[in-house]
Amino acid sequence: MNLEEIYREAEALLDGHFLLASGNHSGRYLQSAKVLEYPKKAALLTDALATMIRNAGIQVDTVCAPALGGVLAGYELARSLEVRSIFVEKKEGGMALRRGFEITPGEKIIICEDIVTTGGSALKAAKAIEALGGEVVAFASLANRGFCKRAGGANDAKPECALPERIPLFALDDFTFEMYAPEACPLCKGGATKAIKPGSKG
Ligand code: ZN
Repeated sequence: MNLEEIYREAEALLDGHFLLASGNHSGRYLQSAKVLEYPKKAALLTDALATMIRNAGIQVDTVCAPALGGVLAGYELARSLEVRSIFVEKKEGGMALRRGFEITPGEKIIICEDIVTTGGSALKAAKAIEALGGEVVAFASLANRGFCKRAGGANDAKPECALPERIPLFALDDFTFEMYAPEACPLCKGGATKAIKPGSKG
């Protein structure tokens, strides 16, 4: 599976000159939700992710996603793994289980995201699950932005990664790309283009 091609086709991976939320510039940008616009394509991706998880011998009862970004990927992964799907929501700086969702002590849970950047939301979801007695057996994500180490991946975790080393992260591929401080951005040099905010028109 050529993940980059699938993302590009779905316009989930953009080439250009972008101003990121961090203030840095980049020549590439991921808008992960776009790759989930078509359920058939989403199912292909989560089927591949489920195969990786099964091959690693991970036993799973439930997939839990941090809302909002992870919900669709989590639901599709649960379908691929033929297990239950739940999600946690932001509450007082952390994440909480609401809407009548419950877990039983010792329940084996995978935390699923569409993309893991530094893993902050996934970690908050894991803490919420562990506080309720659930066992977080793995993290899963369609794409890994390259700050955290994915199982079987070539890249080591960077200091920014919030996820604990003791729990594996399964992702289909790494999407590592350069970011530049505005004053050091090679795309700004010469002034041919201006960095635009991804998602903005014109
Ligand atoms: Zn620039």
